[in-house]
Amino acid sequence: MPAQFDLIVIGGGSGGLACAQRAADYGAKVAVLEPRPLGGTCVNAGCVPKKVMYYAASLAEGIRDAAGYGFDVTPNGHDWLALKRSRDEYVRRLNGIYAGNLGRRGITHVAQPGRFAEPGLVVAGDRLLAAPRVVIATGGHPVVPDVPGAEFGVTSDGFFELTRRPESVVIVGSGYVAAELAGVFAALGTRVTVAIRHTRLLRSFDVMLSAALMRQMQEDGIEIVTNAVPLQVRRVGDHHELWTTDGHVLGPFECVLWAVGREPSVAALDLNKAGVRQYDDGYIIVNRFQETNVDGIHAIGDVTGQAALTPVAIAAGRRLSDRLFGGMEDRHLDYDLIPTVIFSHPPIGTVGLTETEAREAHGEAVRCFTSGFVPLYHALTEHKRRAEMKLVTVGPEERIVGLHVIGEGADEMLQGFAVALRMGATKKDFDDTVAIHPTSAEEFVTMR
Ligand SMILES: Cc1cc2nc3c(=O)[nH]c(=O)nc-3n(C[C@H](O)[C@H](O)[C@H](O)COP(=O)(O)OP(=O)(O)OC[C@H]3O[C@@H](n4cnc5c(N)ncnc54)[C@H](O)[C@@H]3O)c2cc1C
Repeated sequence: MPAQFDLIVIGGGSGGLACAQRAADYGAKVAVLEPRPLGGTCVNAGCVPKKVMYYAASLAEGIRDAAGYGFDVTPNGHDWLALKRSRDEYVRRLNGIYAGNLGRRGITHVAQPGRFAEPGLVVAGDRLLAAPRVVIATGGHPVVPDVPGAEFGVTSDGFFELTRRPESVVIVGSGYVAAELAGVFAALGTRVTVAIRHTRLLRSFDVMLSAALMRQMQEDGIEIVTNAVPLQVRRVGDHHELWTTDGHVLGPFECVLWAVGREPSVAALDLNKAGVRQYDDGYIIVNRFQETNVDGIHAIGDVTGQAALTPVAIAAGRRLSDRLFGGMEDRHLDYDLIPTVIFSHPPIGTVGLTETEAREAHGEAVRCFTSGFVPLYHALTEHKRRAEMKLVTVGPEERIVGLHVIGEGADEMLQGFAVALRMGATKKDFDDTVAIHPTSAEEFVTMR
């Protein structure tokens, strides 16, 4: 006889845990299936350890800048392994806190992978679980390209396993993971090459942001190789060369890091036994209520291929439980105007339409306002970094449909502006807001 639950959640990451906990708060009997440490990608190999590394890199830059403020500081080295140990210890604490959160709510944690036997019936190891509602929240994993020698490289998962800093690295990829890890490595002293398939990093972002970031990375000594499509990785002694399809040989490098995207973790789910439909690339098809085509089977988070971010997975999971168990019939996540930060050096904040997207959608009705400057912090530092900002507005009322910033503080700046955009703020609303001085953010309310 299967163990009976009100809700089975497959995957104990950001989305799955949020969904399970909210359902249990409403009194539902819930099981979470998660064979790996609780918390998923974000906690174990994503946002959290990444932000720790970002802070380490920022400290390195702060030490470099300190001379401009009168300090006589000589860094005597950096202990990567000590940092890794402290970071891992912190992540383990978080894993424990997540387990406690489940226990306190009476949620059953099954430390096994789950797969469907049929709709509403899930196999986990030697256990059989049944529920009228099953949520798939299995997230994704990094792609390793199918080229000879790919096994010599690591992915972002492997980055967090490194026990020492490589002297040199080639990062293959042009998305935010490539941009962020390049910044970390470079600030901590590694010689960094970024090999990108086309001509710009962060191709889906506003052109101003990718141009400014690439310029800044190059000024920081990072080599960016464009139109570089990997053909193979060759081992040369204890280093590696990256051969590209146009006949170039890059390297040798101590470390090769693949940052070429992620794919959904669905292979082990036996989705065919439940009849759940997927897109060609494997992502699970859902409607705005996170419903799949099969009654009682839902999907949330990265596995659906929509805005792969932790707060998105959490919001989708909580709203789903609000609807299923909290009586909020129409509750669902609106995927528009989701703010995003790239923890590059300097960081990027972006919400809404890029200028290109806005012009495609609204043509002549688009008006953009921009500002570029050296933030006050860098007035005294030898190594300077510019900030660039853009407001994208539409129509005679100049409703703000896009807000983009690269520069110190962009990460903390964005959240409040994202609220303003959701509320339909216009350029006049920004103009009517008194500036906070001296900050970088004040530029957004003083642009002309
Ligand atoms: C390097 C990196 C940095 C990132 N930085 C940020 C950031 O700064 N901010 C941000 O918002 N997002 C960031 N993300 C993205 C974020 O981590 C994801 O969007 C988020 O974790 C998605 O949550 P999820 O619940 O959908 O999936 P996940 O968190 O990936 O959780 C899925 C879970 O399902 C489990 N699972 C898989 N298959 C099965 C199975 N068959 N049975 C049971 N369990 C299974 C997995 O073990 C995993 O624990 C980053 C990602 C990476 C890789």
